[in-house]
Amino acid sequence: MEIIVQKFGGTSVADAGKIRRAADRVIKMADRGLGVVVVASARGHQTDQLVADALELHPNPPTREMDQLLSTGEQQSVSLFAIALDAMGHKAISFTGSQIRMITDSVHTKARIISIDAERIRRQLEQGKIVIVAGFQGIDENENITTLGRGGSDTTAVALAAALSAKLCEIYTDVDGIYTTDPRIYKKAVKLKQISYDEMLELASLGAGVMHSRAIEFGKKYDVIIHVRSSSDDIDGTIITHEVPQMEGVVVTGATIQRDMAKIGLIGVDNVPGNAAKVFAHLAKAKVVVHDIIQTEVSPEKANLSFMIGGSDLLAAKEAVEEIKGEINCQNIFVREDIAEVSVVGVGMRSHYGVAEKMFGALAEAKVNIDSITTSEIRISCAVNEDQADKALEAVCDAFELDKPANLRKP
Ligand code: ADP
Ligand code: ASP
Ligand code: MG
Repeated sequence: MEIIVQKFGGTSVADAGKIRRAADRVIKMADRGLGVVVVASARGHQTDQLVADALELHPNPPTREMDQLLSTGEQQSVSLFAIALDAMGHKAISFTGSQIRMITDSVHTKARIISIDAERIRRQLEQGKIVIVAGFQGIDENENITTLGRGGSDTTAVALAAALSAKLCEIYTDVDGIYTTDPRIYKKAVKLKQISYDEMLELASLGAGVMHSRAIEFGKKYDVIIHVRSSSDDIDGTIITHEVPQMEGVVVTGATIQRDMAKIGLIGVDNVPGNAAKVFAHLAKAKVVVHDIIQTEVSPEKANLSFMIGGSDLLAAKEAVEEIKGEINCQNIFVREDIAEVSVVGVGMRSHYGVAEKMFGALAEAKVNIDSITTSEIRISCAVNEDQADKALEAVCDAFELDKPANLRKP
């Protein structure tokens, strides 16, 4: 049986009318003889509301209990979806993450999938049922409920598509595809017909909230074609796929802004083997995700080491570096909050020059100060003050003509 996975985001299941509209799409596929697996997110802003409820009771809630709480949002959506399908005359069954043995590691609030038992889903599909799975959640080996990080239902969907050898995973959301940048911030952004996994992975990791980055990793590894499209109309969205030759000609495919970042600098660390390893071992133990590490030698004896982290990891990171400060003979620790990172991404950068010059020039003209710069083969990122984030993004998008389709941009 050919299988398709259809994922519906929070706004696409926000009320009864929207659930019915989503169910219509599912039925259309099932009527074509396909096995349909639906993944649903929590309705509307429910996850945000649950987070707020917890924060009202505790400034730093235990992460295990957060997962226990947040997973309930998706559990409601999937049962309501199955109830809607039943009312529309279709056999359906909903499952939580634990019921399909979505096994993850034990890193609460940002767990990674280890394995999925697709057999239970297959059996239900073979009985002619539509299967609805709660996104964003799993269980660890001790049966604790875990969640995959905000936006993680995308990853549930693509991982299920991989486990079921589905050829296509459709992501239904509140935009009609992937744009050159977030169209809510830069109104002139244009929609892309297709984008490579590598570029989408960079964009997603750098703050393009439209897709969870680990979903793209699964897609690339298991050859799942991902179609990001609108849940409210029928037009084609954006296909995320392997690189195709003409993509090389496009220098910059998209731009992103990542807010709520922080930077920690360790000044005057002893310049001896093993110190960087010690620092990052401590951060790893504290489960801090680190971005953009920069180390520079300032004298034969001393080095400065800095790195960026998400704002939510700041407390844990500060504690970790304070613990190790003495051991590495660090003279001073500085912390900067309220940083945003603006980035441009494109596989074409590999073979074009002048991208850095254009980006820095655009920021200079907009009078945005660059705090630090990091690059990879297919991206350039500049850290800026968070209050200048929108202005920085706009300047960069204008400079790279991200308001025009690639074929209409100046060479
Ligand atoms: P869902 O609840 O369906 O998962 P999300 O809110 O997670 O939806 O993702 C959709 C949102 O992603 C859009 O409303 C848009 O503002 C934002 N977004 C950020 N970057 C992009 C981009 N490059 N293209 C399209 N949407 C983007
Ligand atoms: N409900 C979760 C969130 O809001 C997961 C998701 O929507 O993908 O982050
Ligand atoms: Mg999302």
